[in-house]
Amino acid sequence: MPRLEVRNLVRRFNGRPVVDHVSLSIQPGQVTCLLGPSGCGKSTTLRIIAGVERQETGEVLLDGKLISGDGRDLPPERRGIGLMFQDFALFPHLSVADNVAFGLRSGSREERRARVEELLHRVDLLRFIDSYPHELSGGEQQRVALARAIAPRPRIMLMDEPFSGLDNRLRDGIRDETLDLLKAEDAAVLLVTHEPDEAMRMADEIALMRQGRIVQRGAPYTVYTRPADRAAVSFFSDTN
Ligand code: ADP
Ligand code: MG
Repeated sequence: MPRLEVRNLVRRFNGRPVVDHVSLSIQPGQVTCLLGPSGCGKSTTLRIIAGVERQETGEVLLDGKLISGDGRDLPPERRGIGLMFQDFALFPHLSVADNVAFGLRSGSREERRARVEELLHRVDLLRFIDSYPHELSGGEQQRVALARAIAPRPRIMLMDEPFSGLDNRLRDGIRDETLDLLKAEDAAVLLVTHEPDEAMRMADEIALMRQGRIVQRGAPYTVYTRPADRAAVSFFSDTN
């Protein structure tokens, strides 16, 4: 059974369909990249799945259970979904430990502390556990944000261009680390990007989006070597 299933989402702004019958399904431990040019509706799709934006029609299911659609609408905090966005700001007044612990609601104090230590160890930042965000580099802050997002063991992780604020030198390392961590947690990941390279590097499956629609889905190699149409060819050959 897919961890996340999205059926026929539709959302219009000012009468224009921005998300136009989008369907997706993602298995646990799998990374799907929603790839497409700026303005094609990627973020709106993600926001609907997260529950911070509402679809007009269509359904979202988590582990086979309806969480949104058909008169039902679970609030974002009850969806078991983790979020990472481009402006991933840590809480500046909280220590690294408290930032990572922020979303942890269950377990004893000791158990929560152990989870924080485990994650900081895995992103190789345990030595900064009592530091504050301003004492860390941008890349280190990003890894803390990753640990914070993963700490509550979300069943689904939604990531909206989370690496675009980082310089090239850091990006590859953090991408790999992110994948390792998410796969170890067996989360289903939906990663939004407008960069074909990023999707090629991270995806198990690419969903190519244009003007609100998914125009092609498949393994990265297949989508890249056999684009569905001319527009897909030019999207891949453009240096965006
Ligand atoms: P992407 O993430 O692929 O760049 P978005 O989902 O952010 O695309 O936006 C898709 C389109 O919907 C854009 O044309 C954007 O201007 C429009 N849009 C997004 N949110 C709103 C809104 N709240 N009101 C009106 N138009 C919006
Ligand atoms: Mg966007």
